[in-house]
This record gives sequence, C-alpha cells and structure tokens, in this order.
Amino acid sequence: MKSIRSLILISVILFSCNEKEVHTTTEEPTAPTSAKNIILLIGDGMGLSEVSASQFYNENPSNFDRFPVIGLSKTSASDNLITDSAAGATAFASGIKTYNGAIGVNPDTIAVPTIIENLSAKEFATGVIATSSITHATPASFYAHVKSRSLYEDIAAFLPTSEVDFFAGGGLQFFNKREDKTDLIALFEDNKFHIDTTGLNGKPSAEKQGFLLAQNAMPTMETRGDFLPKATQLALDQLSKNEQGFFLVVEGSQIDWGGHDNDATYLIAELIDFDTTIGVALDFAEKNSETLVIVTADHETGGFTLSSDERGGYNKIKPTFSTDGHSATMVPVFAKGPGASAFGGVYQNNAIYQKMMDAIK
Ligand code: MG
Ligand code: ZN
Repeated sequence: MKSIRSLILISVILFSCNEKEVHTTTEEPTAPTSAKNIILLIGDGMGLSEVSASQFYNENPSNFDRFPVIGLSKTSASDNLITDSAAGATAFASGIKTYNGAIGVNPDTIAVPTIIENLSAKEFATGVIATSSITHATPASFYAHVKSRSLYEDIAAFLPTSEVDFFAGGGLQFFNKREDKTDLIALFEDNKFHIDTTGLNGKPSAEKQGFLLAQNAMPTMETRGDFLPKATQLALDQLSKNEQGFFLVVEGSQIDWGGHDNDATYLIAELIDFDTTIGVALDFAEKNSETLVIVTADHETGGFTLSSDERGGYNKIKPTFSTDGHSATMVPVFAKGPGASAFGGVYQNNAIYQKMMDAIK
C-alpha cells in the first residue's frame, strides 16, 4: 500500500517536472552557450571604490548594476607586487604575467601572440579604442610587441599592418611626425584603412577605419564630450557586419590619470563617461545575445576610498586618496553573456585571457 502511494507520488512529481520543462522551453528561446562577439571594457585604475564612486555620483542608474556575474582579479606583475598598465594589459591580451613596462612580450622580452592576433586568424574582426594615445600601454598591448612602453613610435609602427580593423583614440604625432620621417598615415591607406583626424564622422563603406583625434592623449571630459560612447557605437556598427564575430577592447584610460592626480572631480567625470560606454556595450549585447561583455581594470590607482566626512559623519562621503601611484588591491570583474559564469570567483588577471578564449566555440 505504502509503495503504491509512493509510486503515485513519484509519477505526479515526474509528470509535473515534465510539464514544467515543456512549458519553459516553449516560452524562452535557448540562450547561446558560446560567444560569437566579445567586448572587453578596461577602466584603467578602476578599483571597487572607483566603481562605488561612479554610483554615488551618477545621476543615472549605474550600468554596473546590470551584470549578473562578478569576480575578483589579482593584479600583480611577474616582477612586482604592484602592476603597471603595460604588464596589466599584456596579461589580458596574451594570458601571461610579465614585467612592468612590457608590451606584448614575456619576461624574456619575446613576443607573445595577442587575442587580436589569435582571433583574427579565426576570421574575427577586431577593434581597439582608448581615451589616451592609441600607442599608450593599455591599447598597445593588444596589437604591438615592444620591450618598453615608452617606445611610442615603435608601437605605432605595428598598427597599420596589424590585424586591427577599427581603432579610435589619440596619438597622431606618433604616426605623422616621426623621428624616422616615415608617413604611417600613407601606410594605413595602403592597408585599406580610412583614417579620420578631424572627428568621429567615419566612412561606413570603408573596410577598416581609424580615428586619430589628438596629437597625444584625448582631452579630458571638459572638452572630450561623448567620444568614448560614440566611438564604441561606431566600432560595434562596423565590427558586427563581420559574420564570424568580433573582439573589441575599449579603455577608459584617464580614470587612472584622475587617480594619479588625486583629483576626485577628474576621476568621477571619467568614471561616469566609462559607465555610459558600458551601457552602449550592454545595449548591443541585449540585442545580440551571442555577445559576451566583460568590464574590469588592470589595477587600482590612488588608493582611493570613500571616507566619511569629519563634519558630515557617516552620512557624507569624502573621496580620499592614499597614494599618487597604483595599489595592489584586487579589482572587480563584471561579466554578462555566453561564457560569463567562468568570470565568477577569485583568480589571477592573466586567467581573463583564457576565460575569453574559452567563451568562444
Ligand atoms: Mg591605460
Ligand atoms: Zn597609472
């Protein structure tokens, strides 16, 4: 008697499970399990206090709140507990720990392939955007291989013949006012690039597009306007035409500079611009579900914290810095889209490279 009752009970459970399964599969389309597109957004110098500041001081809802998966990245370089941006970006771009100052080379100064080179071989379109010079350490580590980050003209020489299909940032002088007198703008044109040095107008019919909109770094937010979100949208428009998928890296370069300057106003303006740019990436990913979006930092800058104000007590925040350099604190990693779950947990910064590669089928 008892066993018959259990049998009936089990049948009822099985039946209702089955029904539920049928019900959900008919209503929800299956989410893609692997990524066709990857958008990596790097806030240079953006620790958790910086992310928190971007929320406290933002009049709009924070785009950081849209991520379902959060992890923590350990940022040390191969030769120093505290990394610089060159070693930090090479970890993401090539999956290795290297020395501070290294651009796309290992501790023995041997070139290591970058994610842009690896994915271009699989017919991916690729893009690089920064608010610094495009030859600065973070963007450079995705397409160049030099032993020192200060070799800007050597770094620039990699870009025209690189696998990059879209780029935007500053640094015009390293291409057209070079010590070796080479005209790299002409070389870009030989390599199917449309180069614009006046604004983000673009030529959508061009196979490849490059924007060099400042002699060195792009200006600060006082005059830069919507360069970063707009360049990101332009890149997505171009790169998404490629049927094999794309990889786009976007850097909020000057978050780091606000931290070095211990200038909270500069820092927060850069963070809010970066947040707006994250929104552009997430909006694209919501319409194109095979897109993995990752937001992280190479390191924290400024030892920044949101202290209490002596006069306002615990109900008033005073942005405070403890150093004019970088710090060793772990930095957050935010992920959304196919493969995102691998970004939960605590891991070394160079693991981010393999996690991105694993997200692609
Ligand atoms: Mg940088
Ligand atoms: Zn820095």
